[in-house]
Amino acid sequence: MGGKILLVEDDPINSILVQHILEAEGYVVLKASSAKEVLLQIKSDVPDLILMDLQLPDMDGLTLTRMIRENPSTSYTTIVALTAYAMSGDRERALQVGCDGYITKPIDTKGFIKMVASFLESRRVKGSSYGDH
Ligand code: MN
Repeated sequence: MGGKILLVEDDPINSILVQHILEAEGYVVLKASSAKEVLLQIKSDVPDLILMDLQLPDMDGLTLTRMIRENPSTSYTTIVALTAYAMSGDRERALQVGCDGYITKPIDTKGFIKMVASFLESRRVKGSSYGDH
């Protein structure tokens, strides 16, 4: 189906890996490696899905998610947290601040692609039920 995905990840190797997986599936990938870059990016171009690393150099991803939710132009944007496997408490906190779900790192390519597709699909359902798309 395609879609525009903002990949928020400060680890350059992870970022390139995930970018390649998504681009191979036909998605358009925008990238940010800090909260500052995310806030600039969503001002000019609102993506269909944000993949949010919770550990960023300038702000934690939970605070950043809350800020994105409070912004009217991005309050309904689908946000999926990327959480390290060991940090189980992160998942609950991610959902509490308004993430639509989470994907555990390190990612497994096949499962990852399926999850991204299903989050984009549920976004379409959510969008139509709110009548804002
Ligand atoms: Mn990180």
